[in-house]
Amino acid sequence: MKIAIIGAGATGLAAAHDLLNNGHSVTIYEAGDRPGGLAAGFKAPGWDWSLEKFYHHWFASDADLLKLATEIGVRDRVIYNRPETVVYYEGRFYQLDGALSTVFPGMPWVDKLPLSGSIARGLLALQFPGFNLIDTIRYGLSGAYLVVTSNWRALERTTAHAWLLRWMGRRVYGLLWQPLLQGKFAEYAEQVNMAWMWARVKARTPMLGTFVGGFQAFFDELAAHVQKRGARILYRTRVESITAVPERPQSDDSTTGQPRWLVSAQPPEPGTHNSEFGTDSFDRVLVTTSPRLMTRLVPQLPPDYLGTLSGLKSLGAVIVIFALDHQLSRQGYYWHNLPKNAGFPFLAMCEHTNFVSSQHFGGQHLVYCGDYLPLTHPHFAMSDDELCATFLPSLKRFNPDFDPSWVQQTWVFKEPYAQPVPFVNHSRNIPPMRTPLPGLFFASMSHVYPWDRGTNYAVQLGREVAAQLSATFG
Ligand SMILES: Cc1cc2nc3c(=O)[nH]c(=O)nc-3n(C[C@H](O)[C@H](O)[C@H](O)COP(=O)(O)OP(=O)(O)OC[C@H]3O[C@@H](n4cnc5c(N)ncnc54)[C@H](O)[C@@H]3O)c2cc1C
Repeated sequence: MKIAIIGAGATGLAAAHDLLNNGHSVTIYEAGDRPGGLAAGFKAPGWDWSLEKFYHHWFASDADLLKLATEIGVRDRVIYNRPETVVYYEGRFYQLDGALSTVFPGMPWVDKLPLSGSIARGLLALQFPGFNLIDTIRYGLSGAYLVVTSNWRALERTTAHAWLLRWMGRRVYGLLWQPLLQGKFAEYAEQVNMAWMWARVKARTPMLGTFVGGFQAFFDELAAHVQKRGARILYRTRVESITAVPERPQSDDSTTGQPRWLVSAQPPEPGTHNSEFGTDSFDRVLVTTSPRLMTRLVPQLPPDYLGTLSGLKSLGAVIVIFALDHQLSRQGYYWHNLPKNAGFPFLAMCEHTNFVSSQHFGGQHLVYCGDYLPLTHPHFAMSDDELCATFLPSLKRFNPDFDPSWVQQTWVFKEPYAQPVPFVNHSRNIPPMRTPLPGLFFASMSHVYPWDRGTNYAVQLGREVAAQLSATFG
């Protein structure tokens, strides 16, 4: 059967992989010029590896991603190491998350002990001057509970704000969790449910992974793999509308009663030449874009479904990347969590080259400064130069020796659909991937739950929607 997929991100490509396995003919429409979607990267002159436009890493627990990498024969290029994550407190950075071997160096086997992550967190918390002993015990015990429990459905009935205040206490909440919630969810910070936080604590590992060559190299491999098996990927091809044609010109046994779908595409920039533009018809369509775009592409969806889509809230992301000729963090820290009330104009500073060697980037040291924001925030309206000028002075807070002359290049990336917001009882608000219109499917980051959105879960989602879609062929 003939299937159209809108989007060559992780969801669309993973779905294509399985639909091809099931013997279907697949066409993927992609507005961008390469596969990978939000996880795509770019290469500056002199770099051997690509850099993700938005910081990306995998966790050791990302089983679906690893399975797919194995199936396409590139598992050996997924590599892990353990860069250091720190939190800001009164002018200094402290490590509060890490493996047990961080506390007992030279004993790597301790990381394999059950609950080793929570024990490590408790021990690291003992050294954190922001906590007293009671705080440390509450932090350790509540953290251990979250790792052990699987009952996220009970946790989604309450907000993370209420649960963490109650069980971890005001100080631990104020120093650790509130900055994270405010940074990630802005005005929605106190409305996010506790299952989302549970999923983060449960699934995240101190071991972080990437792909040899960068995430872009992984998505290039995945795209090449599906193309080799017959999928057509139309890059620089933006879908403008998806409409159902009620009467099938010809019926066949397996799809009788299903409408055909017309997909109309345009070049993203006027004047771009691509012979594939125009309209093509399909038996099934899978859309993997934002809910807002889905609403625009298929306005004839029933009002109830459209209402559910418009109830799904999300935040955008703004990222500035600085390429420096010096290392920024003297201690070699990778991920810096920053509280907004400490006056940083961004949520996180992430020195990529403390995770992946700067040798792959012509010796440049690459620093992301990133934030999740509502689209009405002034940072979205600022020019690239204005944003860089706003973010730059803060770099001195990570290294007093920093000098603006260290900056060799900058890049700015903005994305309107970056972080879905899961409210209380969110599982009831997720629209079914099989829409009420026969033959039309929708799978987006907003469907990933209770886990926080990520490429691993996009792969899982893509494979799940492919199974649902294939099942409709009887
Ligand atoms: C700041 C940030 C940091 C992140 N960090 C991590 C991380 O560390 N690890 C991790 O695993 N994940 C991370 N993620 C999440 C990860 O990027 C996403 O979960 C994943 O890429 C989603 O894949 P997707 O295919 O569902 O969507 P997308 O990647 O958004 O793919 C959708 C595709 O559809 C295309 N498209 C849109 N409109 C049209 C149209 N009209 N016609 C044709 N094509 C269209 C887009 O160009 C895009 O390629 C991060 C995301 C952000 C924003």
